[in-house]
Amino acid sequence: MAKKSTLIEILKRRGIRVTPQRAIILEVVERMQGHITAEDVYTAVQNINSYINLATIYRTLDLLKELDLIIEADMGTGATHYALRTHGTHHHAICRNCGYSFEFPHEFIEPLTVQLRKHYDFVADADHTVIFGWCKACIDAAPLSSNGSANTTQP
Ligand SMILES: [Zn+2]
Ligand SMILES: [Zn+2]
Repeated sequence: MAKKSTLIEILKRRGIRVTPQRAIILEVVERMQGHITAEDVYTAVQNINSYINLATIYRTLDLLKELDLIIEADMGTGATHYALRTHGTHHHAICRNCGYSFEFPHEFIEPLTVQLRKHYDFVADADHTVIFGWCKACIDAAPLSSNGSANTTQP
């Protein structure tokens, strides 16, 4: 594999103007591991240059998303999470009740994408999926109701 280009290099190569503010944001995004929110980026950027506002960060993240360099995921926490494409294929299961989450391997998702392709000619964008449900602790605390969903309204 060739040496990984930095986000700044990739943007420049695509003819996008990289302002000094944008360069700081790109470097911060690149350094962050795993999942990040716009607020995480903002906090880290503020330590370098306190003049960069949250709107600029959102615009830069939107741009990276359009260029398919970062992927977006709704982690059920209200804030959108982002991960670098280079972060790799991974999936999450998240408890709707307590927010407990874990990552599970791509092998679990792969049969589904193969079947979708085979039966519907549908190419799933499933490099990063989030599945919501209920963890064991929550089910034990509030047993599943007859319709299969955890009865989380009980105290
Ligand atoms: Zn993820
Ligand atoms: Zn739970």
